[in-house]
Amino acid sequence: MHIPRFLLLATASLSVLAAGPGHAGAASSPDKADSTRWVARQAPGFYRFALGAFRVTVLSDGTAPRDVSAIMSKPQAVREAFAASHQALPVEISVNCFLIDTGQRRILVDTGAGELFGPLTGRLAENLRAAGYDLGDIDDILLTHIHGDHSGGLSIGGQRVFPNAVVHVDQRDPALWLSAEAEARAPAAARTTFRQSHQTVDPYVAAGRLRTFDGATQLFPGIRSVPLYGHTPGMNGYFIESQGQRLLLWGDIIHASEAQFRDPGITIDYDVDRAGAAATRHRILADAAREGFMVGGAHLSFPGIGHVRAEQSGFSWVPAPYSVALRE
Ligand SMILES: [Zn+2]
Repeated sequence: MHIPRFLLLATASLSVLAAGPGHAGAASSPDKADSTRWVARQAPGFYRFALGAFRVTVLSDGTAPRDVSAIMSKPQAVREAFAASHQALPVEISVNCFLIDTGQRRILVDTGAGELFGPLTGRLAENLRAAGYDLGDIDDILLTHIHGDHSGGLSIGGQRVFPNAVVHVDQRDPALWLSAEAEARAPAAARTTFRQSHQTVDPYVAAGRLRTFDGATQLFPGIRSVPLYGHTPGMNGYFIESQGQRLLLWGDIIHASEAQFRDPGITIDYDVDRAGAAATRHRILADAAREGFMVGGAHLSFPGIGHVRAEQSGFSWVPAPYSVALRE
């Protein structure tokens, strides 16, 4: 019997609601871990702004629902920070990518999760098209690091998504995630990242389109890499500068805004080197607060651009004012 799709969706929604209150400690709203059953649609997820002579477009790859208190150090402090911010866990963590159009080149920073993280992510390509670009327009891809939600969107079904792009990454990350010896030494639980790295990065290696750099490097006029080692051995931010305006795209410095600005010592299970990641976070937050450059974060709530403010204890996040004015 043919059942209209809207009826199926209504039935699914009701069952989610029925399982909601009391389910795994969820609040009165439906469990967001089940939010894939909902119709997850927004207006196209892109946000443009000018940075000097460059045009920057933040591209949403979607969101990843996570109970971050279960995967971070100091879980009680994380729960309290979210409660104090009136945020129920699990929370949908934004997955943001950034396109820098310099006028000469179109440079994409990170690629989202592709097909690795389920149906709430993998929306980079459609949002790129909605913003007026084609996949073939991308000349270069700068990976902050190799992790499923940053490099996962490079390939779908083993095929390169960006046919004309050269992928740039600090040599320390492929030296880990594409290494058979490192994979053999890794605990079984950590093998997923190795497998996903091969799945999505290998097609660019095979095509001769993976280029590595060594730490702080001027990659293009106005664009240089900034080592932010710790979360992974080769994580870099990218410092974008045009006509005196400055933006640091910092990758995974922050996963949970509500907790980690206040206490940069809170780490996440995905950190390869937790102490190194925490030290790097302290340092770059202090730099951003002191020097006042703009920041763009992969997991700051979309569009994830703004400034860091120093507080008596720790830091706070100041989202950039929303603007519809864009100089042509
Ligand atoms: Zn990461």
